[in-house]
Amino acid sequence: MRKGNLFVVSGPSGAGKSTICKLVRERLGLHLSVSATTRAPRAGEVQGAAYYFMDEEEFLRRKNRGEFLETALVHGHYYGTLLSEVEKYLDAGEDVVLEIDVQGGLQVKEKYPRAKMVFFKAPSEKELEERLLGRGADSGETIRLRLENALRELTYEDKYETTVVNHTVEQACADLIAIIRNEKES
Ligand code: 5GP
Repeated sequence: MRKGNLFVVSGPSGAGKSTICKLVRERLGLHLSVSATTRAPRAGEVQGAAYYFMDEEEFLRRKNRGEFLETALVHGHYYGTLLSEVEKYLDAGEDVVLEIDVQGGLQVKEKYPRAKMVFFKAPSEKELEERLLGRGADSGETIRLRLENALRELTYEDKYETTVVNHTVEQACADLIAIIRNEKES
C-alpha cells in the first residue's frame, strides 16, 4: 500500500495556521496531528483534541522514552509531536499534517526528508501584530513574547519549500489544499 505524505506547516503564531489546518482537515479528511504541550489549556481547549496537555515531568519522561518525533521549547513551554500521531497514519496511507514551530519543522525534515515543508505567513508584519493583539486569548507579556518569536520565525522562511500568504481564509485554504493534492499526484 502507498504510504501517506507528511506535511509540516510552520510560521509565526497569528498567521492563521490553526484555522486553515482545521479547515483543510475537514475538507480533505486527512490526519491533523495532535501535539503534546506543557502549556496551560486556553478557554475552550479540550484535552486530546487541541493538545495532549501534560506537566513537564510527564513530557520529559516520554521524551526520554523516545516517544517523540520532535520536541521544542516555544514561548517557555515544551511542545512535541508524538510518533503515535504520525507513523500509523502514514502506514495506513493517510496524509498527515503537523502544525509545529520552525525548530520542530527542521527536526522533522532531518528524519523524513520527503516531508513537504510549508511556511505560513500573514500579508505583513503589521497585520500579524494586529492579529496577535486581536486574539485576546493571552496576557500582554505573553503577546510581547509571541511577537518577538513571530519576528524570529519569519527569518526561517527560506528553509521551507513553499510559502502560503494568508490574505483570506478561503484563499489560504485553497492554496494548502492545492499543495497537498499536488503531492498526491507526484
Ligand atoms: P500555541 O501555544 O499558540 O497553540 O502554539 C504555539 C506555537 O507552538 C505555534 O507556533 C505552534 O505551531 C507550535 N507548536 C504546536 N505544537 C507543536 C509541536 O508539536 N511541536 C513544535 N515544535 N511546535 C509546536
